[in-house]
This record gives sequence, C-alpha cells and structure tokens, in this order.
Amino acid sequence: MPALSCRLEGLTGSIFFGVQLRTWRWIFPSFSLAKVLPFAVPSFFKQSLASTLNLILPDDCRICGLPLREFSRIPVCRSCLSQPKPLEADHWCVTCGSPFLNAFPLDADGRCGLCRRGLAGFDAAYAFGSYEGTLRSLIHLLKYKKICSLSKPLGQLLAGALPRHQRFDVVTAVPMHWRRRWMRGFNQAELLAAEIGRHFHIPVKPLLKRCRPTPSQAGLTRAARRANVAGAFRVRNGVSAEGLRVLLVDDVMTTGATVSACASALKRGGAKHVTVITLARADRRLFLQTVNQPDRTPSTRSLKDA
Ligand SMILES: [Zn+2]
Ligand SMILES: [Zn+2]
Repeated sequence: MPALSCRLEGLTGSIFFGVQLRTWRWIFPSFSLAKVLPFAVPSFFKQSLASTLNLILPDDCRICGLPLREFSRIPVCRSCLSQPKPLEADHWCVTCGSPFLNAFPLDADGRCGLCRRGLAGFDAAYAFGSYEGTLRSLIHLLKYKKICSLSKPLGQLLAGALPRHQRFDVVTAVPMHWRRRWMRGFNQAELLAAEIGRHFHIPVKPLLKRCRPTPSQAGLTRAARRANVAGAFRVRNGVSAEGLRVLLVDDVMTTGATVSACASALKRGGAKHVTVITLARADRRLFLQTVNQPDRTPSTRSLKDA
C-alpha cells in the first residue's frame, strides 16, 4: 500500500521529526523529538512530552523492531519486556551473591574469596538477572536512550529479586556525580530506587554523595575499579545513616567495586546493615564459557562495559 509521508522541518535545517501514515499506523519517533527540543528545555519536560507523544502515536519496539500494537508510554513490546529471566545457579556466594559453576571457590560458610577477605563492604547482595541479552538492552534503553518510562517494569523485576523476609529502614541509590547527572538529566539508579520504595512502602532518601567524578569503570581490572572509586563516596551533609538498615540500589553490578565503596561509606556513616540490589550482574560463568567457546563474544563484553 502506498504510504503518505510528510516531514516537518525542525529548529535547524539538519534536525527534523517525521510523521508518516502507513495505511493505519502513525510513526513518530520520540527520541528524535527529544533531540529537536533546545538543550535548555528541562530534561523531565522533554521526556514527558516524548512519552506522551509515544502514547498518542505508537512506535516500533526498540528491542525487536516490530510495530507496537498497544498504547503505552513504554516503547518496548510485551514479549520483549517478559524476556529477561532471573539468574539461576547451583552455587552462590552467600554474601555477594556471585554465581559459580561449582562449589570450589566457596569456603565452608559459602563465601567467595573476595568476601572472605572482607572486600565486599556490604552485608548481602542480590541481582535479578545476568547482564546479557534483552535485560542488557533494556538497561541500555533506560540509561543511554533515556527512556525513563522503563524504570517501572524494570523496578518490578528488581523488586522480584529481593527476598521477602528482609526489613529495611530506607532505600537509597548509588549517586552520580552532579555533573554527569546534569548531563544525563537523571540517575537511573534513583528511578529504580523510587520504584522499589513504592513497591515495598519503604522511604527513599538520597543518603550518599559522589564527592568526585570518577572515570568510567569500563575495561578496568577489578583492582583498578576499586582504586577508581576509593574515597569517591560519603554520606551527605545533614543526613544521618546511624543505625539504619539500608537497601542500596544500582542498575548493574560488575565487580562490585562501586557498590562496595558506597556500602563502606554508609557503614562509616553509622549504617547498621547494607544490602545491595541491582537489576543485573556480570556473570563470570558466561565469561568462563566464552574462554572455552571464543565465538560467544557478547559475554566478554558484559564484563567490561558496566
Ligand atoms: Zn519487542
Ligand atoms: Zn562473595
């Protein structure tokens, strides 16, 4: 069928947004609109407008590319949203939750080498799934494509990863440096922390501050990652963590260096107990499989770019 299409020139000659009518479906890419709006327009306004337009004029699924058949603020189809599966393993570290192929790295108490040496900083850690496949793509859409409406379904996955018997006084997010937060317009860990707080009816408070900008952890060794974030966090002025049981939220845990540094800062601030929860974690089992099967390249990537 012939398609009717027109283009509306935007604020500059090179940037435009398009409206196409293909028999029955309007296509209006919300990400282009965000680019068209001037930089000075507040980020939340751009995101709200983009989400609203996406509701009125459906888009393609940003994961599988198929047309979206339902009105939703989330530009990902139901099938792709249901694809991420919880992490499964026969052997886990009881403290950091690292999955292992066998029980060899664990001591009699079920702790891995890092946790035995007291390097974890936190008391327990949980993650929903492996930093692979659709879960990884969804996190990237939230984080880098700024599709903040994904925080709700991803927050629900996160809530499902937390054991029900736990009790917390406060939920807090791993903070970004103010400059990076300003550039991105939001902190994805804060969005996820807000969802967790709503789900479990726990107050959400910004307890931590990132005192200095830290270079990206991507591609760094475990030791270099620890050095990179050493002393980078502290409890915010005028805030007390004294005696609190804290649930610390982040999107991805790779070696755990960042959440360890945050947990240590919370403990220095008087926190009684710190539990970490992340949407995804780098799974060393996949890395080891990649070593044995070199054609499985996506797994090696996942250990580097969080
Ligand atoms: Zn899809
Ligand atoms: Zn461990």
